[in-house]
Amino acid sequence: MTNSSSEPGEQSGRDRIGARQPSPPLEAGLYVVATPIGNLRDITLRALDILGAASRVYAEDTRVARKLLDAYGLKPRLAAYHDHSDDAVRLQILDALAAGESVALISDAGTPLISDPGFKLARAVIEAGHRVFPIPGASAALAGLVASGLPSDRFLFAGFLPSKQSARRAALAELAEIDATLILYETGPRLAESLADMSAALGARDAVVARELTKLFEETRRGTLATLAAHYDSAGAPKGEIVILIGPPPEAPAASDEDLDAFLTAALTRGGVKEAAQEAAKTLGVSRKRAYARALELKA
Ligand code: SAM
Repeated sequence: MTNSSSEPGEQSGRDRIGARQPSPPLEAGLYVVATPIGNLRDITLRALDILGAASRVYAEDTRVARKLLDAYGLKPRLAAYHDHSDDAVRLQILDALAAGESVALISDAGTPLISDPGFKLARAVIEAGHRVFPIPGASAALAGLVASGLPSDRFLFAGFLPSKQSARRAALAELAEIDATLILYETGPRLAESLADMSAALGARDAVVARELTKLFEETRRGTLATLAAHYDSAGAPKGEIVILIGPPPEAPAASDEDLDAFLTAALTRGGVKEAAQEAAKTLGVSRKRAYARALELKA
């Protein structure tokens, strides 16, 4: 059975069970294709179809790309793309799109644009009126999150922190305010120092160091930021690729009625019921409704 649903940008060189079919030409546009973060089998059938059918494939590093493409017997027209590249390559890609070509973008591993080249290109492509098609797949950030056991309902991906300590500490001070699981990329040599800075800036939070995900020596080490910092300080820099995941700030204990009354009584000497309630809600983390109702009672 052939795949008859022809959504825009959908390329199916395979039928529903994955057998190769002759590929129809791809719709013009930029195809942002995720590739594995370690295990070569973590590539989607659709990614292989697109890489096999695109008029050109641009890669962060053509030697790395060639290894992946060779593993799947693909021989596309391949060139290098990096956001730091001069504008000439971007213009070349825009010309190709204007001529109706399909262009695929891959990075060395995982999803392009995620701490990888591609953002400037995607923006330029959209500004020029062409389409950008996501071809989703592996990304170390999400792989680390789902293996971490930390809350996954709200998270913030912050990429690599600055390597200079003063800038890193300033970045951590901003992140300390965020009520979400934090996801960061880090390198082995900087890991112990970074974890120590995180512990100082963020306090006693649960954290996970996820290393070599999807690879032979995959490891997820859990602890507080302080215990993880101490571990890597004594064990030395680990080999391989690393994602750090940090749990959200612990919830403040609920304010007692006595705490709320004391706060509101003082606040009511400075302002009205509304202002006192707002101040109490912000400072004590109680609901505005509770603070307002009690402030009204105290004022009466
Ligand atoms: N675009 C990629 C993605 O979607 O995850 C990330 C590219 S970024 C240049 C590379 C960083 O991602 C590594 O230094 C490491 O922090 C993280 N990373 C990549 N592969 C990983 C893996 N298999 N296990 C843990 N972290 C990984």
